Amino acid sequence: MPSFLVSTENIQQYFPTCRLTTFSSIPQNKSATLELSFLAYLRGRCRSLPQVHLGIGDDAAAIRGSDRLQLSCTDQIIDGVDFISAKHDLADVGYKAVAINVSDIAAMGGDPRTALVTLTLPRTNATQTAGHVYEGILEAAAEYNLAIAGGDISTYEGPLAISVCMLGEVEENHLWRRSGAKEGDAILITGPVGGSISGRHLRPKPRIPLVKTLRSLVSVTAAIDISDGLSLDLDRLCAASGVGAELETECIPIHSDAVALSETSGRSAFQHAWSDGEDFELILTMSQADADLLRQEHSHLGLHQIGKTVGRTGLWKKHERKLERLPPQGYMH
Ligand SMILES: [Mg+2]
Repeated sequence: MPSFLVSTENIQQYFPTCRLTTFSSIPQNKSATLELSFLAYLRGRCRSLPQVHLGIGDDAAAIRGSDRLQLSCTDQIIDGVDFISAKHDLADVGYKAVAINVSDIAAMGGDPRTALVTLTLPRTNATQTAGHVYEGILEAAAEYNLAIAGGDISTYEGPLAISVCMLGEVEENHLWRRSGAKEGDAILITGPVGGSISGRHLRPKPRIPLVKTLRSLVSVTAAIDISDGLSLDLDRLCAASGVGAELETECIPIHSDAVALSETSGRSAFQHAWSDGEDFELILTMSQADADLLRQEHSHLGLHQIGKTVGRTGLWKKHERKLERLPPQGYMH
């Protein structure tokens, strides 16, 4: 079986002899001063999984390849841009950094396997910060059965940044792209959206279990995860596929957080559902026959058909028998 090497610089080079004195999540031995290297700690906490031939502790990790397609993606989150360290629990932030990458693998129809994690830490309390962030990283890794195979840690005079590179796999015939939707396909979303800023955005639930189920039930023609807003991400899927969307806007499931937020935000619950980001639900297209099958026989999966793809580009809704254009809105990077 082929193996391949992945490298960002491995953690050991940067944290070979780090002394820890105040790290709360390492079991305290009352009689001894706590002196452990962060690397040794990480090695102990990162489970060895079979895909990792050689993990933390060398110049690069060696990952076992497979007959399936290799998926890779990376996403970075930065203090002051994607979270606020003074306000948000750093374990939640670490969890989010992994989960958003898992969601991108889910959007491709794949299974996440292995992550490389790069922490860029403000110099003050760097080790403590790394430890807190890693609590969430390891929690997400356990939840999605991921190996943490390596990464990099460095310190500087700047805000905390967490970059995760995720490797995953998918069968070639189950690879979901943004570009595969055909005119007349059903458009579905996997759950209610809007108002994630109330807290859900820090603990996203990437739809990995649902993806596995759907692969065995239907042929998904195109997919994207909702990171920047339902309408913006749907517009991206449509643009990639060269189609438009005719929506039944009353069928868009609105999250209770969007309803609660609308009471104080000055925007309607629908507007939140339409344009809020970081729901990490999936937008999927498939034949109407497949969508009907899901509705009739697998309604417990909780998918909602919100419209269908059409030849005319753009997002549309029918209003008094006329088509009305809906502007996509969401978070632009
Ligand atoms: Mg995405």
